[in-house]
Amino acid sequence: MGMFDGKKGLITGVFNKQSIAWAIAERAMDEGAECGFSYMPDKPDDERKKNLGRISKLTDGNPQAKFVHPMDVTKDDQIAAVMEKTKAELGQVDFMLHSIAFAPPEDLKKDTVETSREGFKLAMEISAYSLMALTNHAKDILTDGASVLTLTYYGGEKCVPGYNVMGVCKAALDSIVKYLAYDLGPRGIRVNALSAGPLQTISGRGAGVDEMLGLYEAMAPLGRNITHEEAGKSGTFLLSDMSSGISGEILHLDGGYNAMGSPGRMLEQI
Ligand code: NAD
Repeated sequence: MGMFDGKKGLITGVFNKQSIAWAIAERAMDEGAECGFSYMPDKPDDERKKNLGRISKLTDGNPQAKFVHPMDVTKDDQIAAVMEKTKAELGQVDFMLHSIAFAPPEDLKKDTVETSREGFKLAMEISAYSLMALTNHAKDILTDGASVLTLTYYGGEKCVPGYNVMGVCKAALDSIVKYLAYDLGPRGIRVNALSAGPLQTISGRGAGVDEMLGLYEAMAPLGRNITHEEAGKSGTFLLSDMSSGISGEILHLDGGYNAMGSPGRMLEQI
């Protein structure tokens, strides 16, 4: 018996094997879930369809993976199309994972004060507004009692130099989680965020993960970094009935890093 037996879900944000969304989806499918996947569409001139190839390599041959479908969250028609596909292939779903973020690299590299207007708008649209858009489009296909989960980072709560405009987006995302939890609460639908510590992924590298890994190891109470497997465990916890009663929550999966008010044991190394 798996904890997702008979459960169905829509997973967004799988780029490759390192994606946090894949760690969560793989575990949910191991536990019996049937999943549909959206992925970032390939550019029209990319004849090799690399994005489709990457995700298909993971889902092909897994009987629990029911479909892959392109979706760029800046396009409402593509969001609607994924919901149609989900309805046709799975019917209603018990959970939805939002694991999407983007900021133009040139803006991410700048001091926050220098963020461009266009970069800010795009980063906010993809990294924060998309949770609203996706959830709104998904309202009809989410079962009463469904669980919606997004991925966030501590840089939205405190200033984490280097995280810059993405931190501002995460602050908005964290707030959206709470407002959506209120809106959908009457249907028993829960909305939560998993605040993961640094993990080596494509997006993570762009957001300065490499520099953060040593800091977390030195400063987190557990004295180490989290793993993809742990992201899978905490993510499936929040997507499953095991977390019923939890909504509007930002759960920190960070070895306790956010609990520290001083560098603690790290001081001995300075
Ligand atoms: P990832 O690069 O594997 O995933 C990011 C995903 O966002 C990709 O699948 C990408 O295709 C998708 N995406 C970007 N723009 C999109 C658009 N316009 N439409 C649709 N999809 C789009 O990296 P990840 O680290 O797994 O990131 C997933 C989430 O986890 C992000 O929200 C990220 O901020 C968050 N997060 C990551 C870390 C970390 O250390 N890696 C820590 C905390 C939170």
